[in-house]
Amino acid sequence: MEAPEDLAQQVAKLLTIQPRGLCSDFDGTLSRIVPSPDEARIEPAIRDALARLARHLDVVAIVTGRSVDDVRRRVGLSDVIYIGNHGLERWERGEYLVEPQALAYVPHLADVAREFADRVQLPGINVELKRLSLSVHYRRALDPEAAARQIGPILEALASRYQLRLVRGRMVFELRPPLDRDKGSALAELVVRHGLRAVVFLGDDRTDLDAMRHLAQLREQGHVQALNIGVRNEEAPPELTTVADVLVDGVDGVASLLDRVDRLLSR
Ligand SMILES: [Mg+2]
Repeated sequence: MEAPEDLAQQVAKLLTIQPRGLCSDFDGTLSRIVPSPDEARIEPAIRDALARLARHLDVVAIVTGRSVDDVRRRVGLSDVIYIGNHGLERWERGEYLVEPQALAYVPHLADVAREFADRVQLPGINVELKRLSLSVHYRRALDPEAAARQIGPILEALASRYQLRLVRGRMVFELRPPLDRDKGSALAELVVRHGLRAVVFLGDDRTDLDAMRHLAQLREQGHVQALNIGVRNEEAPPELTTVADVLVDGVDGVASLLDRVDRLLSR
């Protein structure tokens, strides 16, 4: 493990190569993990650092499973690119784009949300319809693992009936359109579209591993210089340690890293 100051220098050095981008997950990376997803707030020091970095860098992007509307509201920076619903939609400099194939599933997802709410009335289960996907959070259930065992099969049946993909995340089940989009393909598309030559990615969860693997592949092929930064927290998947190039400790580690990188780039 490198000393944090060395990592800031390494990141700043990488980000002297142009065009350059900083891309990050939101929950657990830029915001602390909270009992209910609706309580998540961007860490103020991180928001400040991102605002400053957006002035230096060609791209500052947030890639999340949340909807674009939701994450934009929580971050509130207009020169950041927001990629939501794991790459099915994005907001970039005032323009909103959605994957056209995903739109066909919007009514299905609403039906599933209704049907699930009718069938399952467990305390602490939170259904979040994100237009292009649906999340069922069970973090607040009295016994989360028992709740997962109970609702998992119900969601599996609904997913197959409505031709949706069921993905399991951290204390959450997600239903998505069966399209081959994930954070990895979304990040690769962003790199190509902006012709990025240097990319730093930050993430803490299973879905971020897709982005890290894609980015490592682009690096191996010689398309970009890249660094995958894993954000360590109590709930990070064990593979994060091996897939990320380097680790930082939690949201506080991210805040201090971004602040140092900005100061180094401002020199
Ligand atoms: Mg996360």
